[in-house]
Amino acid sequence: MKRFNKVATTPNGGGGGGQTTPASDHGNDVVSRVPEWKCGLNPMKLMGVFVVLVMGLSVLFSVSVVLRDPPSDVLWTVVQARNLDFKVQKAIRLESDLPQPVQVPKDKLLGELLPTGFDENSCLSRYQSLLYRHGTPRKASPYLISKLRSYEALHKKCGPHTDLYNKTVKDLKSGRYSTTPDCKYIVWISFSGLGNRILTLASAFLYALLTDRVLLVDRGIDIPDLFANRFQKFLGYFPWISRSALQPYVYLHLVHDYDDQDKLFFCDQDQTYLQKIPWLVMKTDNYFIPSLFLIPSFEQELHSLFPDKETVFHFLGRYLFHPTNSVWGLISRYYEAYISKADVKVGIQIRVFDRENGPFKHVLDQILSCTMKEDILPKLNPHERIISPVGKQKTVAVLITSLSSGYFEELRNLYWEYPTATGEIIAVYQPSHEGYQQTEKQNHNRKAWAEMYLLSLTDKLVTSSWSTFGYVAQGLGGLKPWILYKPENRTAPDPPCRRAVSMEPCFHAPPFYDCKMRRGVDTGNLVPHVKHCEDMSWGLKLVDH
Ligand code: GDP
Repeated sequence: MKRFNKVATTPNGGGGGGQTTPASDHGNDVVSRVPEWKCGLNPMKLMGVFVVLVMGLSVLFSVSVVLRDPPSDVLWTVVQARNLDFKVQKAIRLESDLPQPVQVPKDKLLGELLPTGFDENSCLSRYQSLLYRHGTPRKASPYLISKLRSYEALHKKCGPHTDLYNKTVKDLKSGRYSTTPDCKYIVWISFSGLGNRILTLASAFLYALLTDRVLLVDRGIDIPDLFANRFQKFLGYFPWISRSALQPYVYLHLVHDYDDQDKLFFCDQDQTYLQKIPWLVMKTDNYFIPSLFLIPSFEQELHSLFPDKETVFHFLGRYLFHPTNSVWGLISRYYEAYISKADVKVGIQIRVFDRENGPFKHVLDQILSCTMKEDILPKLNPHERIISPVGKQKTVAVLITSLSSGYFEELRNLYWEYPTATGEIIAVYQPSHEGYQQTEKQNHNRKAWAEMYLLSLTDKLVTSSWSTFGYVAQGLGGLKPWILYKPENRTAPDPPCRRAVSMEPCFHAPPFYDCKMRRGVDTGNLVPHVKHCEDMSWGLKLVDH
């Protein structure tokens, strides 16, 4: 996450990023941007060429859910790094190719959320994840299920390698297009850390569902460097055009640094315009779903899809993101070896947004204070050196994830050196300590994905403020985490944490604009199910009410 250089946006137009520009300034402006004539080239054509290039070079492909034969060694069939060391890559491939004994639970389709007809060996996690999950599984609404089946049919009709797809691409290349095309697409550009990508893919997918588009995924992690920057350079030249001007493609810039014009995406007028555009290319690092709930034309549909508002990412995530066999190997081996036998499973996700790596004492203090105050971990008994009640003691497995190993070592030593006041046996584990974010490395991403997933398998989860890594874990797990407040001035905050009101991720950079009234408004105060986040006062999240 490198997204907080900007002044925090505050509701009602306060702060640097607020949606305060009066609508009159926009005139008839729209979300799309078209080029001026510069450098002796027709940039409109250039853009067309670019879109085709991105599609061609990045081997666009479908989200795992509609793929019958997912690629062998990618993380979740979406993210793929290229500079993986050869030996690791070979081992991963071998593991993916090995026939695995398939153990399949009863409700393997998660109450019809998942489609039938997949080769169970090709993606073990799809059906086996339930073996590690427990608690009352929530049920997706019948409407969501039928919408997903319709999406799968649309994807089959219009997805890559179909006649209609080939025709639409050909039209795009030649500059021809219809305003009522048979197939419309949204292209998701891979961007930012893994947690961000998972959340933005879910957002783009829901937008595709709402607008009858096929979602195409650019899986190349180098695409942002190779192409997106160039894209942005083009955008620098693009003035806004009137709504009457139609074009075959529109670039949607929904990255945290987006401006007031970009934010008009969240207005009905612009959605009406976008409906007619065959190709949308979206770049975002935000979970923007909460603001989709504030667009009147989507309201009813979203309500029918998700009567239970806090389950949006939960269901989309479980539908879309299935670890590949190699990542499932990381998850299942770790889970079986260290977690499965414990009576209570606790996850602690530690993400420190500081210039230095740490570990920091104030962060450890905060974790201890939170977990003990909230009865997540038992208190220590510093006076009695030996307490060993006869019989089997309750066991607690604590799964720590962090880039640093320091917090894990401290916590493990504490529970080794002192008994707990109530007699539980505490085992502390940490799968990896990668030191720093290395998004370009596949093996690093595999571990990150495995750890998010492992956290989602715990009973009680503690997460760090502002971290999409934690949001993914809580959403997949259906867990309301305890969120560690963000420390200021390297001091442990008091209170150290609070329980989240919902399992939904937070939208970090929402617009604060009333499209009808054309003025700033606190969008966290408009409807009961869209509220400000616990960990970011200006963010928005979905809650049940
Ligand atoms: P965010 O920055 O916390 O919102 O989460 P992202 O997932 O978008 O980006 C952070 C990236 O840093 C991850 O994707 C990993 O690459 C790496 N990372 C951060 N924390 C951890 C961790 O606890 N374990 C592992 N394996 N990687 C981590």
